[in-house]
Amino acid sequence: MIGGGLAGLASAVALAEAGLEVQLLEKRPHLGGRATSYTLPDGTEVDNCQHVTLGCCTNLADFYRRAGAGGKIRFYDKLYFVDRKGRRSTMEASKLPPPLHMAPSFLFFDALTFADKWGIAKAILAIAWSGGRSSGIDSISMLEWLRRMKQTQGAIERFWRVVLVSALDEELARTDARYGIDVFWKAFLGSRGGYRVGIPSVPLGELYEGCREAIARRGGPVRLRSGVREIRIRDGRFAGAVFEDGSEVSADACVVAVPHNVLLGLLPKEFGEPGGSLEGLRKIRSSPITGVHFWFDRPVMKEPFLTLLDHTTQWVFNKTLLYGETGARGQYLQLVISASYDLVPRSRQEIIDLCRRELADVLPASSEAQLEKATVIKEISATFSPEPGVDRWRPSQKTEIANLFLAGDWTRTGWPSTMEGAVRSGYMAAEAVLAAFGRPQEFLQPDLPFEGLSKIWAKRKIAVGS
Ligand SMILES: Cc1cc2nc3c(=O)[nH]c(=O)nc-3n(C[C@H](O)[C@H](O)[C@H](O)COP(=O)(O)OP(=O)(O)OC[C@H]3O[C@@H](n4cnc5c(N)ncnc54)[C@H](O)[C@@H]3O)c2cc1C
Repeated sequence: MIGGGLAGLASAVALAEAGLEVQLLEKRPHLGGRATSYTLPDGTEVDNCQHVTLGCCTNLADFYRRAGAGGKIRFYDKLYFVDRKGRRSTMEASKLPPPLHMAPSFLFFDALTFADKWGIAKAILAIAWSGGRSSGIDSISMLEWLRRMKQTQGAIERFWRVVLVSALDEELARTDARYGIDVFWKAFLGSRGGYRVGIPSVPLGELYEGCREAIARRGGPVRLRSGVREIRIRDGRFAGAVFEDGSEVSADACVVAVPHNVLLGLLPKEFGEPGGSLEGLRKIRSSPITGVHFWFDRPVMKEPFLTLLDHTTQWVFNKTLLYGETGARGQYLQLVISASYDLVPRSRQEIIDLCRRELADVLPASSEAQLEKATVIKEISATFSPEPGVDRWRPSQKTEIANLFLAGDWTRTGWPSTMEGAVRSGYMAAEAVLAAFGRPQEFLQPDLPFEGLSKIWAKRKIAVGS
């Protein structure tokens, strides 16, 4: 296994549980890849960026269970929103059957006008009525689909954009409508619990300790600071992985779970050349996420998390509360801005000033408070961009080399660049390895079962564009 992010870890744990001896090679000094935490020079442990899961992420939940971390994720049923004037609204499921369970919250959602809500209701119903099938709208952007559905500007900015830019890390004009429709169907319409927000109650790095044990139980080492420089193919088969220092390790099979923009540099060059089997990887682009960490000298926020409307900042997480640190003197907040293209060229201080101004709108107590410490983490290649048609460039977990497999959120899973997508890819790669060894086994978990009217509508064969 090359790469100790979620895809590599999920694959390694599944294969170790199936009885294989797995050797995991990770370049960095810690596991978890992009979904990890690390220690600042002053000893504070920070997440690379806040990571949230949703109730519909069934494979990630399964992975956390296998890694012994299921109990470290806390789920929240209520979503909190705040607009420029500081007005709060919440959304949560009612007792109505899906897809109508969120309707009462939606009707009383203050930030939208009647015209916005009327248009949104029609578009949402079209998604639900089609059972989430988007086959009729090949390769158009989400913005184009919303225009076809005659959405108001208010609905686009204060509803669709708010949900989708943070879920998919891309602007609506650059997002394949299929992904946008899928988010609403799986999280908000198909089942009652799909939208529930799951947040770790510990730093991300603490979620992966069990993985190391699961791999070691079968005798396989987890080798950190072990960057691979080259993957050797001899006589049409994987022959070995060469480390930075020139030493080599061999194995009966190899799963490569590195980011898509790293893979081609490790493989023989013909894979990425015109006509090569992985040529499409060059066409997959990345989008940025910026995380801003603020430590205040006193509490300034009561909610566990807030989604901001009409601001550059999209989410604020109350880390002190989420970690269960009741009675703390100060408060640690983490702010997240997805698809943060505009922030990439800005300086650290400019970003801090902007975020502080925005916090003052929605958390007035923060303007009185002393900011004791601040950190800005810009992830330029945070996720792959879910551009219209991107799926045709995403390779399968099997390659033309019989004993070489791929994993990573960017491989073909049907999911966008998420922890759920990464775990799915790892499980799919593990299934492919075991099938190649003549010992087929299944790891992929089913989606949440559809409920209520959604269960009936999901059985029909109507696409959302037809
Ligand atoms: C800022 C940010 C916020 C995010 N927020 C969310 C969120 O809220 N919810 C969500 O679901 N997803 C979120 N994501 C996306 C999520 O983190 C990724 O989809 C997922 O972690 C990808 O896992 P992976 O294993 O495919 O890749 P990676 O995590 O990138 O793992 C690849 C691993 O390979 C290693 N590696 C690279 N080169 C080599 C080499 N030569 N030799 C050995 N090892 C190597 C890397 O060090 C890394 O550990 C976010 C991502 C970012 C960056």
